[in-house]
Amino acid sequence: MSDVLSLSKISKAYNAGLPTEVTVLSNVDLSVKAGEVVGLVAPSGAGKSTLLHIAGLLDTPDSGSVMISGQDQIGKSDRRRTTTRRQDVGFIYQFHHLLQEFTAEENVVLPQLANGVSKVDACARARDLLGKIGLDHRISHRPAELSGGEQQRVAFCRALANAPKLLLADEPTGNLDPATSDTVFDALMELVRGTGLSAVIATHNLELAQRMDRVVRLENGSLVDA
Ligand code: ADP
Repeated sequence: MSDVLSLSKISKAYNAGLPTEVTVLSNVDLSVKAGEVVGLVAPSGAGKSTLLHIAGLLDTPDSGSVMISGQDQIGKSDRRRTTTRRQDVGFIYQFHHLLQEFTAEENVVLPQLANGVSKVDACARARDLLGKIGLDHRISHRPAELSGGEQQRVAFCRALANAPKLLLADEPTGNLDPATSDTVFDALMELVRGTGLSAVIATHNLELAQRMDRVVRLENGSLVDA
């Protein structure tokens, strides 16, 4: 079976050719198997977000290949890449970025409607996901009525709403206090393990990274096993 994500010889520089040129990634390889959860650790500014954005088809590399489920993504049209991103990739950021005027349930329903799912099915899935992460009693609350940990749990459900094959998380609990971060991270891992999806989870927290199947470190533009 092909890897869910396969990055090969990815290079990326910003401001190429200018005095301000920054080489962020040089010849980075990363493969993630079905069901594998990979931790990505790196100091701030090392290029974690750049790597995740390239893997999630939000940015393109200067060179190298991005394969998702065995399909080359770089050669695809923008429209087909957008479809792959919407259907196969879930993204979680450090800040929840929930829509403030919508309830927890609606925040998880909306991406499914955009993906052509019926309202009845989208609501059923949203309730199922929110229930699995312990938020049954909060489905009708708006983000401002939720704690930081609860907001982030809703963001996890939103990322999984369209049953992606690959989850990419950029410091998913980095904005929470240590105790909340721990329980919210456990909830994320339970959700990920329960659905069997593949994930790359960036974190500064080495203790959290140890709970993943494998940890890689980004250093001077290259990935090394940690
Ligand atoms: P991390 O997520 O590890 O903190 P980033 O991927 O955000 O790192 O950034 C890596 C490096 O690239 C940083 O030095 C940052 O300043 C630089 N960088 C990121 N985005 C841009 C951009 N759009 N233009 C120029 N430099 C950028």
